[in-house]
Amino acid sequence: MRYHSTRSKEELYDPKEAILKGLCDDGGLFVADDFDGEKLELSELLHTDYSELAYKIMKRFLTDYTEEELKSAVREAYRGKFQSSLITPLTEIGDDWLLELYHGPTSAFKDVALCMLPKLMSRALKGRDERLMIVTATSGDTGKAALEGFRDTEHIGIAVFFPDHGVSDIQYLQMVTQEGGNVAVAAVKGNFDDCQTEVKNIFSSDIAGELKKEGIYLSSANSINIGRLVPQIVYYVDAYRQLLMKEEISLGDKVDFCVPTGNFGDVLAGYLAMRLGLPVGKLIVASNQNNILTDFLSTGVYDRRRDFHKTMSPSMDILVSSNLERLLYYASKGDCGLVAGLMDDLKEKGVYSIDKELLDEIRKSFDCGYADDAAARAAIKEAYEEYDRVIDPHTAVALSVAKEYKKRTDKEERHPMVILSTASPYKFAADVYASIFGEAEGDGFELMELLREKTGEPVPKALSELRNKKILHDDVVERSAMAGFVLDNARRKL
Ligand SMILES: *Cc1c(COP(=O)(O)O)cnc(C)c1O
Repeated sequence: MRYHSTRSKEELYDPKEAILKGLCDDGGLFVADDFDGEKLELSELLHTDYSELAYKIMKRFLTDYTEEELKSAVREAYRGKFQSSLITPLTEIGDDWLLELYHGPTSAFKDVALCMLPKLMSRALKGRDERLMIVTATSGDTGKAALEGFRDTEHIGIAVFFPDHGVSDIQYLQMVTQEGGNVAVAAVKGNFDDCQTEVKNIFSSDIAGELKKEGIYLSSANSINIGRLVPQIVYYVDAYRQLLMKEEISLGDKVDFCVPTGNFGDVLAGYLAMRLGLPVGKLIVASNQNNILTDFLSTGVYDRRRDFHKTMSPSMDILVSSNLERLLYYASKGDCGLVAGLMDDLKEKGVYSIDKELLDEIRKSFDCGYADDAAARAAIKEAYEEYDRVIDPHTAVALSVAKEYKKRTDKEERHPMVILSTASPYKFAADVYASIFGEAEGDGFELMELLREKTGEPVPKALSELRNKKILHDDVVERSAMAGFVLDNARRKL
């Protein structure tokens, strides 16, 4: 299987190359066309587990990896690193289900993919005389998950930049206490956009050229890499397996998924699972007040010329959902010219629109809705009071949207509802506490403890232990010094 750009079929890449490159030279995203020829054998699901399923699904997409490479990658990525032996357990919330994706080392769903990506990258590097330096800007969650995923990976180093005073207490401590011989972390005097823009500049700078001469290539860990996307397909299929095991569904029954969405990576993985033959009714795209996707899926017009809102669910505060480009490609049956045109419109005019036929095609698989902060707070409170569940603000957005969806949809068209739960409530303890019990004073740890006392929900070990960890990274740099920081660390650590 070979990959090409969403915007052109001219150049073809093997999966390993696509993983090392991340993004296509023309700005498009890597896609493959013929992964869904042979449908999933659902009856086999009953005799499998997460690791085996991960191997089977990754094998379809990453065809130039050997069986041993993939199996050892799965083992190293997940064994002993997740607090649940199921990796992503499915638990009840009223009549619906929560797919708990946050039991990894940093208590965020990004762990599921970022534990795997470094394993795939290091195997792709084998036999090449190259080393990689990962450079990532973060508004909080991605940075820590990437650091933890890449720590002590051979021939790969990582530098993470976050905005000084721009992340939560807990997120700050998670990053500056990061251990590992190949990691570098710095706060930047500026906001997240400054970090992100400068990281993009570094990729095309003289410094990238200089490092290349020394055999060091710059790469990124962001969610458009197929090495992050493919591992996410697994938990959709595994959720179905768990419902089968619980005898909540029979083979072939459909299931609906409601997904708290930012960059559209998570929900796109659900779409790929559906293309593989997973019986899905609807994929419901849940947004916060930055509801550009709700508008797009309702009208066919994607218009980014609007205000940006800072919300209680920061990982979904996004106006350009990169992975949507892949859906446009697949739903238009591989029309690269169309996708390239739409992306040009977005870049030049800030807006594009699709015709009714394409929108109808997309709406066969997708539904949508949004919840503002007030609705998310209400959902957190209701989840606790009615169902005795403590959920984070991102999950709350999805829960609220799922409830609305059920209200407006005929019973015959509905199916068991799986809500993707993307972060531990303790990562957002202050907002969660305030939503349930009202405002309280205290720092991140005090509120974590208060929330634990009141609800009895256990605190993930890695979060409670943060308090006693040594601060290992105290660099604060100007934006103009970021490139030098990367150069220096790449040379020292690789
Ligand atoms: C990243 C993130 C999301 C959004 O996922 P996408 O793949 O970007 O759509 C939702 N919730 C949490 C907690 C996240 O960290």
